[in-house]
Amino acid sequence: MAVKNFMKDLIDDEIEGILKNVKMCKCEKCIDDIKAIALNNLKPRYYSTHLGEVYSKTNILATQFRVEVIKELTVASELVRHHTKHEIES
Ligand SMILES: [Zn+2]
Repeated sequence: MAVKNFMKDLIDDEIEGILKNVKMCKCEKCIDDIKAIALNNLKPRYYSTHLGEVYSKTNILATQFRVEVIKELTVASELVRHHTKHEIES
């Protein structure tokens, strides 16, 4: 059985595009921090893979979620950028 969070799927989709526009450390640790902060600020939308994808990535609801995800990822990337816990590897 697998229960998935649609917001997590969207975050995985959008993170690359967000990071492309931000000058910051892009190691796995910082990316995980951004994802965690964004997920904490987003209301989770769960679906079971057994039932299939409830939220199609193209429907209106998904478009609205995507806007929220992009907003939270932007905020989270700013936070992590200013509070990087380790030396920036270039
Ligand atoms: Zn880093």
